[in-house]
Amino acid sequence: MNDTYRHKGLRRQLSLLLKGKGIFDVDVLRAIETIPRHLFLNSSFIEHAYEDKAFPIGAGQTISRPHTVAFQSELLELKKGEKVLEIGTGSGYQTCVLLEMGAKVYTIERQKELFDKTKKFLPTIGYDTKFYYGDGYNGLPVFAPFDKILITAGAPEIPKALLDQLKVGGKMVIPIGDKVQIMTLIEKVADKRFETTEFGEFKFVPLLENKEWGD
Ligand code: SAH
Repeated sequence: MNDTYRHKGLRRQLSLLLKGKGIFDVDVLRAIETIPRHLFLNSSFIEHAYEDKAFPIGAGQTISRPHTVAFQSELLELKKGEKVLEIGTGSGYQTCVLLEMGAKVYTIERQKELFDKTKKFLPTIGYDTKFYYGDGYNGLPVFAPFDKILITAGAPEIPKALLDQLKVGGKMVIPIGDKVQIMTLIEKVADKRFETTEFGEFKFVPLLENKEWGD
């Protein structure tokens, strides 16, 4: 694995940049300093891996900006050993952040090409978890309930099945909207009772439903 002191230095700078942008969770910052983001990108973007930018990862999808990844991870308020459902595996970078933070991660991806690639790649850099190929709208009822649920694509609406699969006391982080998304934190305070907090605009690729399956 080609990870040098130079890369480590660039990660440290990125972590300081994110701190400057308001990320304070030390576990999130430590994960950013640890994970070799340059290995998640194709060679044309590798030089820019530690800039706070999103990049194409194939199949029309993107690896989210480090600030977005850090922001979503911080909102989850993860504790070690918690069971997390991630919708939108993509490159697997966000998955690794959750794993570094000590979560038990179940991740779903609907693009076969990305699912295959990431499931194969992550173990080669020392991260392994439970990968599922399918439609995140349905969640993973067999493994529910989850302490935390993270959606890493822009959702036109909140998938009902995911609310059902959240533990009472659990939190869901979901960007809601079409062209731009409002980062939203949903806390399940009691069975079928939710509290919602909004955190401003972000930009994501869309969360696609069954009807567009196979795109
Ligand atoms: N967390 C990823 C972000 C990838 S972009 C990363 O760090 O790289 C969002 C991903 O969500 C894309 O890979 C897209 O294919 C996937 N996606 C979109 N709709 C989905 C759905 N209904 N179920 C599962 N994955 C979905």
